[in-house]
Amino acid sequence: MSENKNILQDLHGRNHAYLRISLIERCNLRCSYCMPEEGVPLAPKSHLMTYEEIYEIAKTFVKHGVTKIRLTGGEPLVRKDIPVILEKLATLPVELSITSNAVIIDKFIDVLKEHGVNKINLSLDSLDREKFKYITRRDQFDIVYKNMLLLIEEGFNVKVNVVLIKDFNENEIIDFINLTKDLPIVVRFIEFMPFDGNKWDMGKMVSYAEVMTYVNASFSKENIQRLQDAPNDTSKNYKISGYKGSFAVISSVTNPFCDSCNRLRLTANGQLKNCLFSSTESDLLTTLRSGNSIEPVIRKAVQAKLKVRGGMDTLEKLQEPKLHNNNRSMITIGG
Ligand code: SAM
Ligand code: SF4
Repeated sequence: MSENKNILQDLHGRNHAYLRISLIERCNLRCSYCMPEEGVPLAPKSHLMTYEEIYEIAKTFVKHGVTKIRLTGGEPLVRKDIPVILEKLATLPVELSITSNAVIIDKFIDVLKEHGVNKINLSLDSLDREKFKYITRRDQFDIVYKNMLLLIEEGFNVKVNVVLIKDFNENEIIDFINLTKDLPIVVRFIEFMPFDGNKWDMGKMVSYAEVMTYVNASFSKENIQRLQDAPNDTSKNYKISGYKGSFAVISSVTNPFCDSCNRLRLTANGQLKNCLFSSTESDLLTTLRSGNSIEPVIRKAVQAKLKVRGGMDTLEKLQEPKLHNNNRSMITIGG
């Protein structure tokens, strides 16, 4: 049998055209759902990809069909050489985007524009300053909110990620949707997911169904429009008639969208993760540094990708601490 030439196609027929690159394990916030309070052990700097290595690895993925690259972290903008990374990646024929907590994004407006980065996903879990401080363990609400408005004013395409947590911010669902009345943003409610050290339990998660119960209780049926989701979209998209923006739910826990998954993840220390939930990793950086081709390593990693959520195909398995605690903390995966 001849070997499939497409190294980014897995055994379930999924093609991977989207690479998310984590640039850094550090962050200027400390979100409790993302990292343990005591922090995470950080890889020594020499174990992290340099900008040249990021470029080399990205180039290989693009050669094999990647058309979208999203930079994430930790907080990608905290990385000192971010302008050079953007400059290098902007030479590749890809749509380049970034996920940021927006604390310092006002300093990067020009550099983002210069390198064609138009799509920004920013994290904002509460519209209440005290609650923001509680969940992020830092008092930065005012600047993040101001920066969200600045990005909109500067013409960026802005999505706002809200991780919903029971008894914390579920009472803000409608406030967030009301933001879309005058702001042309997409608010994306994310089901709280389990990762190492984030004290997840099913009871803390607000499900897609629960979000829609709040929505149905607050808006009339005729005004709630179900939008067409884009191919490979991870979210279920909605709009309130007449509102400038829209909202969506990312339901990785109650409604996994693995069938259409086209994503691969590269950690800041050069490990390829074939799934957000997978506890296995493939070491591209050591292979690159030893002068060998990373292509066979990529092929093997992609072929090993399991059909659903790194093998946690049922809610029961997802709730099994020994299964999800083998994974990294989200801060070192890159959301
Ligand atoms: N620092 C940047 C930020 O916060 O946008 C980028 C990295 S962050 C890890 C990427 C995304 O992952 C954020 O939108 C964050 O809300 C989300 N995230 C982190 N931990 C999560 C969890 N346990 N469940 C669901 N989403 C999570
Ligand atoms: Fe930092 Fe983003 Fe994680 Fe919050 S979600 S701690 S901002 S990496």
